[in-house]
Amino acid sequence: MSLAENLAQVQRAMPARAAITLLAVSKRVPASVLREAHALGLRHFGENYLQEALEKQAALQDLESICWHFIGQIQRNKTGEIARQFDWVESVDRTLIAQRLNAARQGATTKLNVLIEVAISAEDSKGGCPPEALGELADNIQALEHLRLRGLMALVHPDQHQARSNFAQMQSLFHMLQNTGKYPDLDTLSMGTSEDYIQALAHGATEVRLGTILFGSRHQERS
Ligand SMILES: *Cc1c(COP(=O)(O)O)cnc(C)c1O
Repeated sequence: MSLAENLAQVQRAMPARAAITLLAVSKRVPASVLREAHALGLRHFGENYLQEALEKQAALQDLESICWHFIGQIQRNKTGEIARQFDWVESVDRTLIAQRLNAARQGATTKLNVLIEVAISAEDSKGGCPPEALGELADNIQALEHLRLRGLMALVHPDQHQARSNFAQMQSLFHMLQNTGKYPDLDTLSMGTSEDYIQALAHGATEVRLGTILFGSRHQERS
């Protein structure tokens, strides 16, 4: 199926609830296809690999109101470019990284939007803040003047049953943080991929991150 058909199918499956961000996960997808996605109305793009993202950003500079989200593992020596080249960073999982992003964002006209990646599934070996350390990390980010703490991100367990419990845990962590009243800009719960976004939306996701279901399967993905 074409990208247009895939997108239409996803949009039909989305609940009518307002304010759901569809983040098009575009790793391994060439810039020409992102251009097509933009023409179909998509504005938010998620990238995992910095070098690949920088090349596409350069090729797509002419596109209006495009919004770039970094969703991959953050290497400490890449924080400068990530902070300067992206609008959102969804994979912040420790204070040191937040501090480095903050320092690099100094002088920009807008703050860098930040999500904390939560290690909600034991399967997720790729990082993430343990739930018990979430409050402290949120406080530390909130204190940084060039970052804007917007919410939480998670990858859940591939098993459907465990995924459901992960989504429920994320929803309750998100509400718990909101209810403290300490983080006024908390409005984003990013969870759900091609496999499970309907379930994620049922648990209050405000953003879903969709790759395969839009663009087809990725070949030669790096591990
Ligand atoms: C690749 C990726 C996705 C998209 O996964 P699909 O199954 O292709 O929809 C979402 N989130 C993160 C963090 C990813 O790395």
